[in-house]
Amino acid sequence: MLECKDEKCPIHGGLKTHGSEVEGIVVSDKAAKTVIIERPYTTFLKKYERSLRRNSRIAAHNPECINAKAGDLVLIAGSRRLSKSKSFVVTRIIKSDRK
Ligand SMILES: [Zn+2]
Repeated sequence: MLECKDEKCPIHGGLKTHGSEVEGIVVSDKAAKTVIIERPYTTFLKKYERSLRRNSRIAAHNPECINAKAGDLVLIAGSRRLSKSKSFVVTRIIKSDRK
């Protein structure tokens, strides 16, 4: 992997991550160095006695050396709050359709 000069990079910068890493699918890579990750979860509605499938959307920092794109399956980890809506960082690409 390329080295990068991103100070918010968990590998080359000084960013510390904490907590367990979670998997998610990148649904948007439009913002600079940011990706939106979607994670499906199920919730139970007592009133109708049915489970619902919902998606949680998490904004995560996308360091230059990782450069995840939409459709990639990635691992993200919690970090300090990077911006108003970002407190996660992409740590690894698990699966990508790109060559
Ligand atoms: Zn890096």
